[in-house]
Amino acid sequence: ADIYLSGLNRSKKSFSQRIRSLALNFKGIDEEFLEELMVVLLEADIGIKTAQKIVDRVENEAMDRNLKSFGEISECLIEQMAQMYEEKGDEAIKRNEAGPTVILMVGVNGSGKTTTTAKLTKRLQEEGKSVVLAAADTFRAGAIDQLAMWAERLQVPCIKGKEGGDPSATLVDACRYAKAHDLDYLIGDTAGRLQNKANLMKELEKMHRVIAREIPGAPHEVWLVIDATTGQNGIAQAQVFLDACHVSGIILTKMDGTAKGGIVFAIRDLLGLPVRYIGLGETADDLRPFDLEAYLYGMCE
Ligand code: GDP
Repeated sequence: ADIYLSGLNRSKKSFSQRIRSLALNFKGIDEEFLEELMVVLLEADIGIKTAQKIVDRVENEAMDRNLKSFGEISECLIEQMAQMYEEKGDEAIKRNEAGPTVILMVGVNGSGKTTTTAKLTKRLQEEGKSVVLAAADTFRAGAIDQLAMWAERLQVPCIKGKEGGDPSATLVDACRYAKAHDLDYLIGDTAGRLQNKANLMKELEKMHRVIAREIPGAPHEVWLVIDATTGQNGIAQAQVFLDACHVSGIILTKMDGTAKGGIVFAIRDLLGLPVRYIGLGETADDLRPFDLEAYLYGMCE
């Protein structure tokens, strides 16, 4: 938990400092306070729609429960943010009991898909699971080699096609490999070019189709990797992927490099998706399961 919090230090400091600075002018829940709270939320990159909801909820709660002190109100803020997150449900991560569990990584180039695939592999290995990787990002130059290098370091098999080749073919090969070797997990690293949305959709559809043919029910999880430093832009990009495939969760990368961790709440509120992991650096160890409680208290205390 300490590492988790220190990794989030940047978002923690600035958000909590700003919240605390609200105490200086605090005279009660008035227009001025609500406006200042709105600004703090926007600066944390929570986004205007979600920030407005949070402000409204804090205002209503404070009225209903007759909260007066700044302490009570900042406590209420954390509580309302947690409730908003949890209201969206609590879906468990899917696992395939009958054979390999297939996880697809999607997202725009540069968001951290390849690195996150490696990090996830390491976590699964630490749980005693066997993993095969599929280098299905046949578009970005060097992506296949980059994943193959991680695979070598982590001592897991990596199924690769040719650069510019059909990513679905690579995934089929990897599915067959996983079944033949009775492996627990297959993680597919895919390409994410947003410039050509129709193509991206067609490609993702095909990947889903061929994987499901090899392993019934697969892909079991489709995780959209979002670079936290891109802020609200990341949300807009996410929408494209949501339209193109069945995204089941989010991995938020580069949380070590931003003071704008509030994007977690925008993602949850606007896209309804759970944040599964957060990336806190460039090594294979820098991935943590998302923990709402630790996150909120890290941000707010
Ligand atoms: P891809 O194109 O989506 O596969 O992205 P990559 O995995 O190649 O990552 C792009 C860059 O972001 C690389 O330089 C990674 O080392 C870096 N990166 C990925 N995740 C993180 C993270 O959580 N924190 C930091 N600081 N850098 C990251």
